[in-house]
Amino acid sequence: MIYNFGAGPCILPQEVFKQASQAVLEFNGTGLSILEISHRTPEFEAVVEETVRLIKELLNVPEGYSVILLQGGASLQFSMVPMNLLGEGQTAAYLDTGVWASKALKEAKIFGNVNVVASSKDQNYTYIPKDIVIPKDSAYFHFTSNNTIYGTELFEVPKTNVPVVCDMSSDILSRVINVSEFDLIYAGAQKNMGPAGVTVAIVKNDILGKVDRKIPSMLDYKVQIDGESMYNTPPVFAIYVSMLNLRWLKSKGGVAEIEKENISKSEALYKEIDRNPLFKGTCRVEDRSRMNICFVMENPELEKPFLKFAEDRDIIGIKGHRSVGGFRASIYNGLPITSVHVLIDAMQDFAEKHR
Ligand SMILES: *Cc1c(COP(=O)(O)O)cnc(C)c1O
Repeated sequence: MIYNFGAGPCILPQEVFKQASQAVLEFNGTGLSILEISHRTPEFEAVVEETVRLIKELLNVPEGYSVILLQGGASLQFSMVPMNLLGEGQTAAYLDTGVWASKALKEAKIFGNVNVVASSKDQNYTYIPKDIVIPKDSAYFHFTSNNTIYGTELFEVPKTNVPVVCDMSSDILSRVINVSEFDLIYAGAQKNMGPAGVTVAIVKNDILGKVDRKIPSMLDYKVQIDGESMYNTPPVFAIYVSMLNLRWLKSKGGVAEIEKENISKSEALYKEIDRNPLFKGTCRVEDRSRMNICFVMENPELEKPFLKFAEDRDIIGIKGHRSVGGFRASIYNGLPITSVHVLIDAMQDFAEKHR
């Protein structure tokens, strides 16, 4: 068994892998592989329908919102959001909390003005700026709920009267949210929802249609909503595997249940980081992410040996992003708590050796 703490694409439940591989051979009694059936068959339309229905159910999406499945990853949403919501001459407010947030605001500048309302870049993005002021005339406010690279997470949606747009790629479906606090949520699937290749957007319908710009059809939320995620050939397999993963989440008791597990997993790991004299966390304690646990060693010379020590125990994917260094353990929904304990044991045994 390998303990995969990779940041994305990442581990999904083993039973999802098994069911997905079965469907490659034969899908749902059709005698065909999921990879060869037409996306216009009733069998596949049912897959899209169930995927959207499960997202709505698991996140308790209220009336007035559309859930669509797109391609291009979260990175294409960085452009699609301003293209659809930021009129020429208007200003959008962005919170700069990391690499993804700053990539998002860079794209927005192509379409209008960007007001960076706060940034934590001064301390290498190790905290979430508080008490931010969002000008009332902003076209929208954009933030990243979980900063995958730096290991910070924003648990409370800043108060504002302008539309709220959120990149939720790395913590969607990991904790209970109130969708009505948002006007647009987007997420690449490959951290908590499914495999790479599909991107979900949850759009409040009445924020659309307010900019004059001509929008290419594929990049127009309205066109994608009207096309019910089938404007063109969708990423059939990625959607199918996402559906399996959403079914798994529902069978576990849904988002509220997995949130409890995610709290236990992250608390156990942070507790060891704070207790073990060899390790220390990199982020401000109250802003610590439950998904990406970033830490370094008091003695950086021990980092390589610890990485090797962990690898010898089949622990992989814990090397930190190059912009932070040290370690990052990504503990998304699909990672069982037993894997967290294997990592904690490795940290304790390593400390024992290096007393
Ligand atoms: C991974 C990630 C992205 C990039 O997603 P792609 O699907 O590769 O474009 C963007 N934002 C956040 C918060 C991420 O974790």
